[in-house]
Amino acid sequence: MGAGVAGLAAAAALRRAGRRCTVLEAAGRIGGRAFTTRPAALGGALFDHGASWLHAAERNPLVAIARAHGDALRDADTIRTWRSFVGGRAASAGELADYDAAEARFAAAMAERAAQGGPDTSLAQAASALPDDPWNATVLAWEALIAAADADALSFRDWHANTLEGSNLLVAGGLGRFVVRRLGAAAGPVVCSTPARRIEWQRRGGVRVVTDRGTIEAGACIVTVSTGVLASGVIAFDPALPPPTQAAVRLLPMGLLTKIALRATGEDRLDLPPRCAAHRQVAPGEALTVFNCWPDGADHVIGFLGGGLAWELERAGPRAAEAHARAELRRMLGTRADRAFDRASLATRWGSDPFIRGAYCYPGPGDAGARLELARPLADGALVFAGEACHPTLGGTVGGAFLSGERAVRLARFCDRGKPSALATFRPER
Ligand SMILES: Cc1cc2nc3c(=O)[nH]c(=O)nc-3n(C[C@H](O)[C@H](O)[C@H](O)COP(=O)(O)OP(=O)(O)OC[C@H]3O[C@@H](n4cnc5c(N)ncnc54)[C@H](O)[C@@H]3O)c2cc1C
Repeated sequence: MGAGVAGLAAAAALRRAGRRCTVLEAAGRIGGRAFTTRPAALGGALFDHGASWLHAAERNPLVAIARAHGDALRDADTIRTWRSFVGGRAASAGELADYDAAEARFAAAMAERAAQGGPDTSLAQAASALPDDPWNATVLAWEALIAAADADALSFRDWHANTLEGSNLLVAGGLGRFVVRRLGAAAGPVVCSTPARRIEWQRRGGVRVVTDRGTIEAGACIVTVSTGVLASGVIAFDPALPPPTQAAVRLLPMGLLTKIALRATGEDRLDLPPRCAAHRQVAPGEALTVFNCWPDGADHVIGFLGGGLAWELERAGPRAAEAHARAELRRMLGTRADRAFDRASLATRWGSDPFIRGAYCYPGPGDAGARLELARPLADGALVFAGEACHPTLGGTVGGAFLSGERAVRLARFCDRGKPSALATFRPER
């Protein structure tokens, strides 16, 4: 259930194992949170609405798939530069050296804290032991931004287990397109625009999945929808899920990451080099907005913001995130930024997508075990959950989603007596 990375990986693994499966997808397209378009608002430039980097490349299974197909990969870190601003001006060399030192102190302190063990706390609490430094809040806000949640809401243990060490690669043509092209092809046909409504998961011989267009009976069902979708109750489970699974869903709320693209069609590039990441020093408790400037030479920058601020702005309406991004650019670059970003903009709204309901999930302090609890197969493998939420060390990533989809296939129970029945009335689409 679900044709995001996890569902496509599961379907491909089933096909390789000679199993029959039907992949149900609620949306009219495959890829889920990996989604590339060329929006008119950005003059037709490539835009990854969701995932764009292959993080932790050295252990990311999608890297091997890209290499096997000869898809060009670029190391995002070697082509990226940084621009940091303090109080409306570029940071001095001394300030940048202080920033580097604060980052190194943070990394060392967090590693030491993890090695000590002890009870889980929030990431913010773990960082509160650091010696005072004007860059501490910025370093912490970076981590919170990547986790799509506020530092005081994040489990330190889960954050540490999911640290994305290693290289970050970009795949030519966008990650969403890559997922459709490569994982979609390996997965085979997908029945799109068909949300599952109900899963009867303790029937003799397997499961029954009810949709508006009919039902499917199968040996097992692998559910890869987000924890936001699970928590919303739009999919009924019959019987109700066991209390530990229900608790795991509740303990894995969705974080939010919003991307805001702003176009500058004039000549002024504001002294921001192509592909630089620009941001300002923030005060304690303030969220960070980071701008990825002129990707691939395009005439736009993409602001990233996350956590509570992202949810607040998404609730405030379609233009609120854009207004925030413009204000941030003004704080960094002055009113020159108002003149430069003279054109249309685009802001993602993953929290409002009924089939996703956020960016990716995170456990709070003390709840780091929820990922493995959700991944525990039910009814001897008749019902198995998978997806980014279910990976203990690559949570929130396409790599983690992929691996958890493949793992679910190993745990699923197969009904060899009866063949899983694909819906006769379905016309599978790709
Ligand atoms: C803004 C943003 C930036 C990100 N950046 C990165 C990044 O750079 N690198 C990275 O690795 N990861 C990134 N991620 C995270 C990554 O996109 C996800 O972790 C991953 O794509 C999740 O895959 P999944 O298969 O678990 O879930 P999904 O992609 O959500 O797939 C689940 C599918 O289930 C479908 N569905 C929902 N309800 C039903 C139903 N009732 N019946 C049938 N189908 C249903 C959905 O439509 C969806 O297609 C980012 C995410 C966001 C939002």
